[in-house]
Amino acid sequence: MTPRPKRILFLFSDTGGGHRAATEAMIEAINLEFPGKFDCKMVDFFREYYPAPWRFAPEIYPTTTKIGVWGLAYRSSDGRGRARALTGLQYPMLRRGLHRLVAENPADVIISVHALVNAMLPRAMRKNPSPFVIVVTDMVSTHAFWYDRRADLILVPTEPARERGVKFGVPAGNLRVVGMPVADRFNDPIDAAAWKREQGWREDLPTALLVGGGDGMGPLKRVAKAINYAKLPLQLAVICGRNEELQADLRAVRWQIPAHIYGFTHEMPAFMEAADILISKAGPGTISEGFIKGLPIILYSRFVGQEDGNVSYVVDNGAGVWAPRPREVVDTLREWTENPQELRRVAQISRSLAHPQASRNIARIIAEQCGVEA
Ligand code: UDP
Repeated sequence: MTPRPKRILFLFSDTGGGHRAATEAMIEAINLEFPGKFDCKMVDFFREYYPAPWRFAPEIYPTTTKIGVWGLAYRSSDGRGRARALTGLQYPMLRRGLHRLVAENPADVIISVHALVNAMLPRAMRKNPSPFVIVVTDMVSTHAFWYDRRADLILVPTEPARERGVKFGVPAGNLRVVGMPVADRFNDPIDAAAWKREQGWREDLPTALLVGGGDGMGPLKRVAKAINYAKLPLQLAVICGRNEELQADLRAVRWQIPAHIYGFTHEMPAFMEAADILISKAGPGTISEGFIKGLPIILYSRFVGQEDGNVSYVVDNGAGVWAPRPREVVDTLREWTENPQELRRVAQISRSLAHPQASRNIARIIAEQCGVEA
């Protein structure tokens, strides 16, 4: 008799696009590495199991980041003692939902992909614990909430994130640097020239790809307009994600350079393969994907707190620049288009930071936790 597939429960939430993308990347890798051996389930714990107002976190999140509340809450809670105190305060209100979550989703291993469930879950499953693995999806400025010492294993994307774990008291043996889980498709070969022809992109001009996370966030419109007015020798591809208003606004612009405006796309690997420069909000998913495609990166905005470290990681390693003013984005584009050698040098550094096998390696580690062999 074939053994029943092992059940993996992924706890994530749609606060931003990154948690979902990382979770889907891991599930894809598990199914590729171990076909038929695992049954994976994703649960948005905020939406499905937390009471109001927590339940509305995915809806509230874009506003809280925009008006600065998120950054304030992030920084003021980022310490071991403060994180523990906040967990203690909130737990009584979340306990019922958490017990229901554990009871309704029996699993051989639970994987958390979100900082805000890590301290709660071990309390909720105290009587009947399942193996518990945390996959950290912030690159460097990883919040204290990520590091719960009761987790069996904590997988982190970078060495600085590992060091923060040690600082927060996680035993070094329970921390492993694996990189950010990114969709396997980013490793597939793509014919960039054919893609450009298909999209009607000029083949004689470098392409700057402008993105603002899954929701087209940050001052993307101002950046796009500044690039337009500068009339640099390049073409622009803008991905507005789910932000339809932004898409309509950009379509109405009188473009002075070749410009291509898109809504949410499932073809990010092709866009990045065909582009020469990535201009992005400091989202960890997009940055990690840019590394795989060896793209020099201009970061034009970040979420205060959570994404600060993503900026320093890119800048300190020399894979790109921090350009919070549209003028600075233009200056960097001018410098790079005038000096292709410099552009190639930065591209090489970017590629050297990539972890293209992160999702597959995480899949193997999860399988190990369940005693499953390839
Ligand atoms: N993304 C996508 N299509 C789009 C826009 C974004 O697939 O049209 C993906 C992008 O490739 C990345 C994720 O959405 O995997 C965004 O994650 P990131 O961590 O960069 O930012 P977030 O949206 O979480 O703030």
